[in-house]
Order: sequence, then C-alpha cells, then structure tokens
Amino acid sequence: MPPQTKSAVITGAARGIGLAIARTFLANGYHVTLLDIDGAELRKASASLAPADAVLAIECDVSVPAQVQAAIRTTEERFGRIDALVNNAGVAVFKPLLETSFEEWERVLAVNLSGPFLCTQVCAPVMLKNGGGSIVNIASISGLRASTLRVAYGTSKAGLMHLTRQQAAELGNAGIRVNAIAPGPVETAMAKQVHSPAIRADYHDAIPLARYGTEQEIADAVYFLCSPAASYINGQTLAVDGGFDAVGIGLP
Ligand code: NAD
Repeated sequence: MPPQTKSAVITGAARGIGLAIARTFLANGYHVTLLDIDGAELRKASASLAPADAVLAIECDVSVPAQVQAAIRTTEERFGRIDALVNNAGVAVFKPLLETSFEEWERVLAVNLSGPFLCTQVCAPVMLKNGGGSIVNIASISGLRASTLRVAYGTSKAGLMHLTRQQAAELGNAGIRVNAIAPGPVETAMAKQVHSPAIRADYHDAIPLARYGTEQEIADAVYFLCSPAASYINGQTLAVDGGFDAVGIGLP
C-alpha cells in the first residue's frame, strides 16, 4: 500500500456510496475524514476501515456552518492538509409536488445543495495552503431529467450541478478542480427507502445496462476525477448511470 500522505474529506461516509468512496481513497494511500450526521453508523463504519490511524470520523451535519467549521479544523489539525473533498451526503424525499411540505423541501435543499456550498467554502482555503486539490459533488440522474416525485430531490441535484460549474469557474485558477458525478440508481439504504417496485421497473426498462449500479462503480469514478488522470477535467458532470441519460426514452 502507498504511504498515507494526502487527505480526503468525504461527507455522508457512514454507509452506502460515501463509505465505498472512503474505502477507495484509503486503498489509494489517502488519509480520510468521514463526516456524517449519524453517529452510531459512523462508529461502525470507522471501525470497519484500515489502517485505523488513517481514519478520522466526525459526527457533523453538513448543513450547519459551526459543525462543518469545527470538523474541518479538526481534520487540518490531524492530517495537516486537505487534497480532496467529496460532497456526498444527501437525503431523498420522493413525493408529488402538491404533497411535499415546505419543511421537506427546505431540508432536502439544505443538505443536498447548501451542504456542498458550505463544505466547499470551509475546505477550499485549507486546500489552497498546499496549492489546490479536487472537489467532487455527488449529484444524480434525477438532476439531469425531470420526473414525477422528485420535485425537491431533483431540483437540489440540478442546483448542485450548476454549483459545480460555479465552483469550477471561481476555483480553477487557484488550482482546485471541481466536477460532479450523476449516479444512476444504486442499491443503498436510500434506494431501499424511496425506490418503490414501480420506480425499480421504470429504471430497469430505461437503463441500457438493465441493472442498478454498485457503490464501487460510483467510488471508482469519484477517485478518477480526483486523480492526476483527470487533470484537465473541470466543471463537468459525469453520468455513471448504465446509459440512462444517453438514451432519452425507455427501450422497447
Ligand atoms: P445513504 O442514505 O445510504 O447514505 C447517505 C449518508 O448521508 C448517510 O450515512 C446519512 O446519515 C448521511 N447524511 C444525511 N444527511 C446528512 C447531513 N445533513 N450531514 C451529514 N451526513 C448526512 O445514501 P446513498 O445512496 O449512499 O447516497 C449517497 C449520495 O448519492 C447522495 O447524495 C444521494 O443523493 C446520491 N445518489 C444516490 C443514488 C442511489 O440510487 N442510491 C442515486 C443517485 C445519487
């Protein structure tokens, strides 16, 4: 295993796609900081990762400025630098527009859109102390295409893709690249919560590869975007979706 020199901050890393991303960065020689609102899941996740001294787990709500500032201060004290930030924490509410409460709308936007804004504002100055870094925002195919039930979720992810372009425009010259991944469906706790049998059937019909993606397939794409192999990719959203976005309408 390569020496642990670089450091990555991954939000929503206690389970699912975020935990796979943390494992992938660890395997590639990074120190990792796992931020998550769920303390119990976070402790379990942290205990499953090795080497233990390369892992820092901090309970943190990414939509609360004071919590994000404290978490990033602790990260800098422990690892001395931040080279990568993955804004992965997200929540999903799948409801019709007329049944989505204002509180649900506000919470989805706070976590999925304001969280990445805030984490970037706090992490980027630390990245710049070492000449820059890379940021990846985890959006969704629901932000590329409108569909029923996703008024809050899809709007938050579409906003995140434009935030990615804004961040790239402002931070590129300083040495920070910013890109997004738009995953198709992945079998995680979130998918189990919001993907009804009808939604699953729709995805099956609309995805040329005719299957859900895996957490590792998303993590590998995130790592690629943070690596030197992607050194001239900036401001882009990469759909990792089995061809869903390319096709446009369901397959016969
Ligand atoms: P998940 O629910 O399994 O994991 C999300 C993690 O984020 C959880 O550990 C949760 O505790 C944490 N979290 C929630 N709110 C938080 C907050 N305010 N602060 C810090 N942490 C918080 O979901 P997942 O499927 O692994 O999703 C990861 C990301 O991928 C999300 O942004 C999601 O929108 C996106 N995504 C998922 C799918 C899918 O099908 N699973 C598809 C497209 C995009």
